Amino acid sequence: MASLKYIFVTGGVMSGVGKGVAAASIAKILQAKGFSVTAIKIDPYVNVDAGTMNPTEHGEVFVLDDGMECDQDMGNYERFLNRSLSSANYMTTGSVYLSLINRERSLEFEGKCVEVVPHVPLEVIDRINTAAKKEKADIVIIEVGGTVGEYQNVLFLEAVRMIKAKRPEDVALVLVSYLPQQGAEGELKTKPTQYAVRTLNSAGLQPDVILARAGIALDKPRKEKIAFNCNLDNEAVISAPDVKSIYDVPLNFEHDNLSGILMKRLKLKPKKHDLKEWKAFVAKTHAVSKPVKVGIVGKYFASGEFVLADSYISVIEAVKHAAYAAGRIPEITWLNAGDFDPLGVGTKAAKDNLKLLKRYDGIIVPGGFGNRGVEGKISVIGYLREHKIPFFGLCYGMQLATIEFARNVAGLKGAHTTEVDKKAVHPVIDILPEQRQKMAQKDYGATMRLGAYPAVVDKGTHAYAAYKGSHFQTEGTKRRKEQKLQIPADELIVFERHRHRYEVNPVYVEKLIDKGLVFSGMSPDRRLMEIVELPKAKHPFFVAAQFHPEFTARPLAPHPLFVAFVKAAIAKKK
Ligand code: GLN
Repeated sequence: MASLKYIFVTGGVMSGVGKGVAAASIAKILQAKGFSVTAIKIDPYVNVDAGTMNPTEHGEVFVLDDGMECDQDMGNYERFLNRSLSSANYMTTGSVYLSLINRERSLEFEGKCVEVVPHVPLEVIDRINTAAKKEKADIVIIEVGGTVGEYQNVLFLEAVRMIKAKRPEDVALVLVSYLPQQGAEGELKTKPTQYAVRTLNSAGLQPDVILARAGIALDKPRKEKIAFNCNLDNEAVISAPDVKSIYDVPLNFEHDNLSGILMKRLKLKPKKHDLKEWKAFVAKTHAVSKPVKVGIVGKYFASGEFVLADSYISVIEAVKHAAYAAGRIPEITWLNAGDFDPLGVGTKAAKDNLKLLKRYDGIIVPGGFGNRGVEGKISVIGYLREHKIPFFGLCYGMQLATIEFARNVAGLKGAHTTEVDKKAVHPVIDILPEQRQKMAQKDYGATMRLGAYPAVVDKGTHAYAAYKGSHFQTEGTKRRKEQKLQIPADELIVFERHRHRYEVNPVYVEKLIDKGLVFSGMSPDRRLMEIVELPKAKHPFFVAAQFHPEFTARPLAPHPLFVAFVKAAIAKKK
């Protein structure tokens, strides 16, 4: 068997220039050459996982099938590779130290002194190898978070050095570096990149490829300058200008023959050339001309537009995939939940703002936590329900849709979630007993209902029409067999990813059904409500899911519920 190949991706000069997309794109172009490729993210922070962080801190918390709460880059890997990854593919400084300390406490080191070097980097290497093995990978791409020269990723760079020292032919190092532009029309400056390479050199490392991220393309003199000063061939300096869509990046890299350069470096021969499907998808993204207007009601507005896009990245990408599949340009507008709250902005302003919702073809109320923005979101949902505007709720959005219905249709005044109102008269959304115990013990880390769970989808509903015949049905059937679930063979079953503590309170389910709410998806034991909707006769599209369909939406496999929502939005336009 050929030996495993490692491609490390590190960042230089500054963060936030698309290292994750670069790593995902490298994975994609090598996958297209016929290799089994997997991708790992290393985050330098001490948090054991991303689950305890506010999205304004570090962007969206992405969730994997096995319940791992991780960095949003894992979402990019899954979207580009079109495959699901596991917790083995993610680590943080905190998780590495935690397992090392646990091993020490259980005497695994047999009395030895456990030291930061070499034991921390060895633990990192061990994890990389375990993940690669689990994924049966020929090539593993490892993105090291942060930028070179930061104190916090020194030990990870040391891990790279240690692998490279032992098997130089199996390791390639890619530096994603930023080139600032001097003035609007000015030249790209290479000096910061040269310093970043010096920093890598002082860690005992030399990059094999430099991806020159910049607003514009790299010209020949600059390319040669970087190559000469950083000990590289000209061809190993790749121009990586800003592009319209992140999905263009793999094709851009191939323009400069990046896969060829990496394969040469790693002594690999391509097994096939297969970027066809991806190219077809990208061509579609460029060909669309008519828009579909989608509003997303968010609350993480405090730090501006950028933070919003980062906090809801999977939702945005899921809308894009569905819009492109329907031949439309996704036109997304951020709507501040607070603007619709009569107690916040006043009754008149809230009413006026609600009227503006008619401008959109469809509205999404995404996931969230806590009480801020909640009443505004509930007002929005009520307006969409009454005015028959397509609505799609995700997680908290589903819980709030249930509350809105309970209050305004089922006549349950004071209906609420106990997340916001502990003493709600009608706790239609409530915490599960096992969760209550965890909260009492302040056991917050990785204790929500996390990861993929099955749901049975009922016939004759929006959800059924969407899922029927989709890849979710195929996958659901496969997993049902693997997990030997006792569910009748003719039931449609789907697996979807979760991240929440609260649930529709079973006590109210019958009452809500009586009043016309449809629970079209439930856990196989029918205890947990997974999807709510209004009947087609009452509303063109009012659907909300307790899970997060956005986490399993992929460019080459758009999510059926997002597709159904976008279709309904287009139909409204007509
Ligand atoms: N706050 C809600 C809960 O914990 C919803 C979570 C979410 O939207 N991800 O159940």
